[in-house]
Amino acid sequence: MDFDPIERYDEMNSDEILRTQERKLRDYLRYQLYPFSPFYRKLFDDKGVDVNQINSVKDLEKIPLTKKEDIIPDDENPKKYKDLILQPDLQKIKQFWPRSKQFGLKVKDILKGNIETALRDEYYPTFMIATSGTTGNNVPFMYTRRDIEQFSNIYQSLQKITELDPEWSVINVFPFAPQLAFNFIYFVNLNSNIRMFHTGGGAVTSTKKTLEIIEMVQSNIIFGVPSYVYHLLRKAQEIDADLSSVKLVATGGEKLTKSTRKRMTDILVERGAQDPKLFDMFGTTEMRDAYPECMPGSGIYHIHPNMHICEIVDPETGKQKRPGESGALAVTNIDGRGSVVCRYLIGDIFEGGIQYGRCPHCGKEGPRLVGPIGRIKDYSKKINITKVKGTQLNLNIFYDLLPTIDGVDEWQVILEKRNNDPSGLDILKLNIAPKKGTKKKELKERIISKIVDTVEISPVVDTKYSRDELFEMMGGKMKADRIIDARSKD
Ligand SMILES: [Zn+2]
Repeated sequence: MDFDPIERYDEMNSDEILRTQERKLRDYLRYQLYPFSPFYRKLFDDKGVDVNQINSVKDLEKIPLTKKEDIIPDDENPKKYKDLILQPDLQKIKQFWPRSKQFGLKVKDILKGNIETALRDEYYPTFMIATSGTTGNNVPFMYTRRDIEQFSNIYQSLQKITELDPEWSVINVFPFAPQLAFNFIYFVNLNSNIRMFHTGGGAVTSTKKTLEIIEMVQSNIIFGVPSYVYHLLRKAQEIDADLSSVKLVATGGEKLTKSTRKRMTDILVERGAQDPKLFDMFGTTEMRDAYPECMPGSGIYHIHPNMHICEIVDPETGKQKRPGESGALAVTNIDGRGSVVCRYLIGDIFEGGIQYGRCPHCGKEGPRLVGPIGRIKDYSKKINITKVKGTQLNLNIFYDLLPTIDGVDEWQVILEKRNNDPSGLDILKLNIAPKKGTKKKELKERIISKIVDTVEISPVVDTKYSRDELFEMMGGKMKADRIIDARSKD
């Protein structure tokens, strides 16, 4: 299947890349997004956006931002995710495609047997990941066969950017989950000659077992969520594990702070690793993509210019920031099938904004996002998303969940760092006042199993409180502080 490979952008200078991207943007909006995306067709019609007027990155400002709350299902449209999927048919093609483009399809038709087969290969969703969220609030993002080929091509480029030696062996400790991180690495594996072992993360393979595997197969690279990798390294210290084979750690899924980087590097060196490198990757399920740092610790993430246009904007007005100016990331597909987005507000701020021209770190010419990266606080407060172990957790669900568990009288949720260590794993702590006559041990088990089932996080449950005590602790007489994020923010 024909797609636009990322390699050809390596040969272009900054201006050529921008011109190519804008040409792709024009075609994509006119011949893919507007005709085939029910969500954007409606949005553009409602807001009076004429796709024929959008010719440049600057022109994107005429299109409203898409926010997380715009794509989550609601009562009116419980299957809203479907509206983000490109859905062509012959009638739309005849209406929107110029004759020359229709002719291309005719050629495929002759080669493939019929147009339906050609369209199916290119557009039919075959693979799905989903954003995390409460039950019913997850938004599935689809890939088609063409996407799988194209995304494999860009995922593979990770190997080149991180200078990953094909002889090295990799251990992937990202959790098995229908989100981007694990699947991203799995696709790299399937489409390269790199040898990988996927543990499924700490919930599937114990940390001790994972360390045994690292020692046994002499893993050179560890992929994982920062807080879990850190936990793994701490365990290595504890049991005196040998990490001399490790050359590179690549993290994603949550913020990697400077202090965590430093602590990880120190432990690696202490455990025998020589000059270990730490890469961070920025990616989200909605992008279906992740951008690795071009140099370890640079905080610079080159976008994949064949797939996306990235803008740094004011999240309220949608107005673009100047290069280098801090702002929120909005992503627009200029290629890809399946679920696609336009000016989608990811929910993160890049303090260094966006840069063009030659990269001072790696010399590449493509546009790039510059950290540090932070959450859009107000925005995430609205839907109360907090990152725990690399998954997004909507703390609001506890309001619905905990009171329905048999035996719970009063409750409080606290997110904190284990041992108050700012680089440590997060703990989800539940303070519970049991109803009178409830067996505490059984209640505790009930709560843990319910929370694990719902949010895939194992909580620490304390049932020692009486209702009055807990109520007092929450400051309930004024306004109950039921949910507290007590993790330090560095
Ligand atoms: Zn660079």
